[in-house]
Amino acid sequence: ALTTDDVAGEFTLTGDTKRRSDEEISQILADLHFGTIFSDHMAHVTWTVGEGWGERRIEPYGPIELSPAAAILHYGQEIFEGLKAYRHADGSLWTFRPQFNAARFNASARRMAMPELPVETFLGSLVDLVRQDAAYVPQLPGALYLRPFMFASEPFLGVRPSHRFEYFVIASPVGAYFANGFTPVSIWVTKEYHRSGPGGTGDAKTAGNYASSLMPQQQAADKGFDQVCFLDARTQENLEELGGMNVFVVYRDGHVATPVLTGTILEGGTRSAIITILSEEGVEVEQRTIPLAELVRDISAGEVSEIFACGTAAVVTPIGRLASDDFELQIPSGPVTERIYERLTSIQSGEAEDPHNWMLKI
Ligand code: PMP
Repeated sequence: ALTTDDVAGEFTLTGDTKRRSDEEISQILADLHFGTIFSDHMAHVTWTVGEGWGERRIEPYGPIELSPAAAILHYGQEIFEGLKAYRHADGSLWTFRPQFNAARFNASARRMAMPELPVETFLGSLVDLVRQDAAYVPQLPGALYLRPFMFASEPFLGVRPSHRFEYFVIASPVGAYFANGFTPVSIWVTKEYHRSGPGGTGDAKTAGNYASSLMPQQQAADKGFDQVCFLDARTQENLEELGGMNVFVVYRDGHVATPVLTGTILEGGTRSAIITILSEEGVEVEQRTIPLAELVRDISAGEVSEIFACGTAAVVTPIGRLASDDFELQIPSGPVTERIYERLTSIQSGEAEDPHNWMLKI
């Protein structure tokens, strides 16, 4: 396994601009919102067809100069990731499963005909940036959200993979994702729109998936719901995921189910950690097709005890209401969602053992 020292520190620091004083930073950390404030620096590496990946740089955070003909602006050749850096009680800084994000980033790159990034460069860029902007890592339950992304920067209007890409990491101190904290959210299941289809890009973390989810999300919000849930495009019958979170169903008899990865769902690092944790607790976790009609029947019959969504930003969120054109159901709350939240956050905070070496020290 790679250690931090294997990946850290091989970068050039350009223009060591500190934008904010320590006092300004502590004011920011005292009143956190999601994704509005960014730290002083960003990591940057350029790839070209001829030279491959260039030198690792840490630059002042700021606008990127881009040709109006850059392929990203026309054909959306872009991928990204999302993970967090946490401050433990002793002041040390850690990330949760960055190797998972590195692997998913490269899986997305392959699907989008983009160059893979060496895992050491991905991990190193996180370490370099967090070390540089360590003052921006808030106390728990806050965290420094890290956003690695790569896009086609070649000025060229033909439709083919770009000959030049930029990889960046930016960082944003964050508090709780949902303004209301650990309270149940409401979900609208759209039968009109899909976020992906068979052979599409649903299992890649690429900009277009999110662009296409915005209008159905807006429709759900207009109807008074917090989030939209998508069904599979092939049969239009089976539960897939939310716009940015995976879903789990907890049954009265104790077993748990989550939609199986069919290529149209994004595999979440949180999803994968939850499957591991529950399985180790002896809970039966089914990864299977979950027909919406079956779920509605099971909720109505009182056989579903909890439904929750999961992802890096919100960790775990109980779902309290599920509705679509032809049904509207309340879902009870229960102990499993909260227990999973505690299990995950206590590993992330360093309070609990980390038997799987999920935490990487920065
Ligand atoms: N599905 C989608 C579509 C997402 O954007 C995310 C967030 N990356 C997730 C699921 C959850 O993934 P993770 O647990 O790795 O944050």
